[in-house]
Amino acid sequence: MSFTRISEIGEFGLIDRLATLIQPTESQLSTLKKGIGDDCAVIELPNGKLQVVSTDLLIEQIHFDLLTTPLEHLGVKAISVNVSDICAMNAKPLYATMSIGLSNSISVEMVEQLYSGAARVAKQYGIAIVGGDTSASITGLVISITIVGEVDADKIAYRSGAKPGDFICVTGDVGRSFAGLKVLMRERQTMLDTFAENPDMDKSTYKPDLSEYQTVIEKHLLPKARVDAVKFFHEAGIVPTSMIDISDGVGSELKHLCRNSQTGALIEESKLPILSETREVSDEFEDDATTYALFGGEDYELLFTLSPNDLDKLSPFKDVHIIGKMLDASNGVKMRDLFGADIDLQNASGFQHFTEEEDFFEDDEHHHNGHDHSGHRHNGHNHDKDDEDEDIWGERKN
Ligand code: ADP
Ligand code: MG
Repeated sequence: MSFTRISEIGEFGLIDRLATLIQPTESQLSTLKKGIGDDCAVIELPNGKLQVVSTDLLIEQIHFDLLTTPLEHLGVKAISVNVSDICAMNAKPLYATMSIGLSNSISVEMVEQLYSGAARVAKQYGIAIVGGDTSASITGLVISITIVGEVDADKIAYRSGAKPGDFICVTGDVGRSFAGLKVLMRERQTMLDTFAENPDMDKSTYKPDLSEYQTVIEKHLLPKARVDAVKFFHEAGIVPTSMIDISDGVGSELKHLCRNSQTGALIEESKLPILSETREVSDEFEDDATTYALFGGEDYELLFTLSPNDLDKLSPFKDVHIIGKMLDASNGVKMRDLFGADIDLQNASGFQHFTEEEDFFEDDEHHHNGHDHSGHRHNGHNHDKDDEDEDIWGERKN
């Protein structure tokens, strides 16, 4: 048997090859509306509604660093990134299972912290955690979450429905999570250096003041899935023509929408919603904030396209920006920069596991094969706002 390294074909190349091995049968295809290739698999239920399913894996040292990530935050983030995939289908999240692999260094109390964060945010999203699996692990903490949601058949949003002329929209702001990661990675290094230089130091006395970076750090450690946007779409009678959540950056996700919809696109750099806090961090690191927005990732905002006919209906929703237009495929996927030049996004890349190709982040302290989502406990950060009686869907919390 030959030995092809995963890096030779990359993450998406591998998934393509696996897809051929797990092809559904003809009879399964009658109810399987979408298998591999969108944010969720989509299954038609006997009542005519559509069930959406997604699963995600988080592995210590690849996705997070326990040295600097509060476990409660990790629980919150693990649930939120899964809910985000349900949102990307314009669906309502319902149930999740949460499985864990535990190494010797994980205590009962640590697992309880993880789950208290997960349970708290699950309640906010109105979902129930209904089971999971528990195993020993020799490679550190492993978390796998599977989530199920539901949507009326006429409201589902795939990656594939965009048409030339549709407006390209993004919720919230982008690039901020990567700015937070940059600060946390620098802080982590400073901490490790300090401990190395002062081996006798009481580590519990090490308390850096990161309050000036709170906005960007918070976005990285505790991203929120945009269930509020989905709820608005449903109430306003809007169905995005295509939608995806931003896990790998606006540029990467836009390419997915264009490929799946067989369109081109032109976005404008000046329209990208980037906070001044994000720009301050990118300036400090002598980086370009636009690059954070296009390829930084982990913002978990929604990138979607809207038919021009629906534009008026969008106006009551304030936390959204129109950044460009879908075009015919022949136009390619481009960004008009601040000087009016059209930059081709097709050959620029975001994070992909296993790839060897160079990109914007080549010289950065984190790399593709270990997209390090390390977090860090920081001061003055209050994430315990759980004082509303209703969940985001307007239903009573249980
Ligand atoms: P996302 O970033 O939205 O979580 P991914 O990029 O991880 O999506 O996955 C892309 C698609 O490939 C999804 O439809 C997912 O279900 C599928 N996929 C990823 N890994 C595997 C695998 N090991 N086996 C089968 N399908 C997979
Ligand atoms: Mg997704």
